Amino acid sequence: MSENEIIDLRSDTVTRPDAKMRAAMANAEVGDDVYGEDPTVNRLEERAAAIFGKEAALFVPTGTMGNTIGVKVHTKHGEEVICEAHCHLVDWELSMMAWFAGCTPRVIPTDNGVMSWKQIAGSLRVKGPHNAPTTLIALENTHNMAGGTVYPQETIDEICHEAHQRGLRVHMDGARVFNAAAALNSTVDRITRGVDSVMFCLSKALGAPVGSLLVGTAEAIAESRLFRKRLGGGMRQAGVLAAAGLIALEDSPSVLAEDHANARLLAQRLAELPGIRLDPSRVQTNIVIFDISGLGIITAELSRDLQTRGILANGIDATRMRMLTHRDVTRDQCLRAASIFAEVVGEKSLASIPV
Ligand SMILES: *Cc1c(COP(=O)(O)O)cnc(C)c1O
Repeated sequence: MSENEIIDLRSDTVTRPDAKMRAAMANAEVGDDVYGEDPTVNRLEERAAAIFGKEAALFVPTGTMGNTIGVKVHTKHGEEVICEAHCHLVDWELSMMAWFAGCTPRVIPTDNGVMSWKQIAGSLRVKGPHNAPTTLIALENTHNMAGGTVYPQETIDEICHEAHQRGLRVHMDGARVFNAAAALNSTVDRITRGVDSVMFCLSKALGAPVGSLLVGTAEAIAESRLFRKRLGGGMRQAGVLAAAGLIALEDSPSVLAEDHANARLLAQRLAELPGIRLDPSRVQTNIVIFDISGLGIITAELSRDLQTRGILANGIDATRMRMLTHRDVTRDQCLRAASIFAEVVGEKSLASIPV
């Protein structure tokens, strides 16, 4: 099967650089970024800071490194960071918070990935003979494992206001914060106005091949630059990557709403199938998560069956599948994926009829 017959719904990280990005990469003006001399990286960092309305930004190879530095720059060893229970920082970053920053997460379980100030207030720890103090709150927006859910603006504003009153800082894991902005019909500048730092990924729905940015105050970003070097993230002629990132940053945010419409369409089709538990009204952005326990098989088996018919999608555990829409899958491909999925599900339910 040729590559373009495959519909890859595993993640928005699979998006490939388009012709415009490749041309910009080939022609990028470069220098040694560890010396601060790569003009294209410098332009990307300046544009990111301007778009977010903050003082400075740092180009990092991955979102994980951006989050790792974001936590480190706001904390000291032996402190606590408040996180949602299934956030990326806790579940998918190899305990970097502990390994690099020496902090422990204090997690708050939620139904939809969105923590309230009330929940956070109940989990704050004040320095004392038995307590490591809370110094940082990390918000994931959109929340990946909750299904791309978006923080209401007033919730973020309240958390930031109350946190700052108490001398606490707020970091946003905004890997998909542009998706949040599209969903709210808002801007990333407004969404992140109150936070002390935000990390966002160029390499996901925005379509760049590599890279993320950490955005914040000039002071925090200057310090972050040293942490990036410690982590091995000083990338030299990184302008070839930043060139694609600049295009992703300028061109891609305005088309994310299409991915969201496609995700809702996919969700509506899948929700009609027997054995699938999915509420399409919960799909806010480009992530669709649903339960397949009614099919009587585990997700690994379903993934294998789908793969033989050209659909790539993974389970997040034995019973829940996750599908993402992105710029490299069209509306028609989403419809095709849904109908192939329906065929596979039909065969499963036939196979499970006792004879
Ligand atoms: C993808 C992602 C990251 C960073 O991932 P990298 O693969 O390291 O770029 C961070 N947070 C969330 C919520 C993500 O989805």
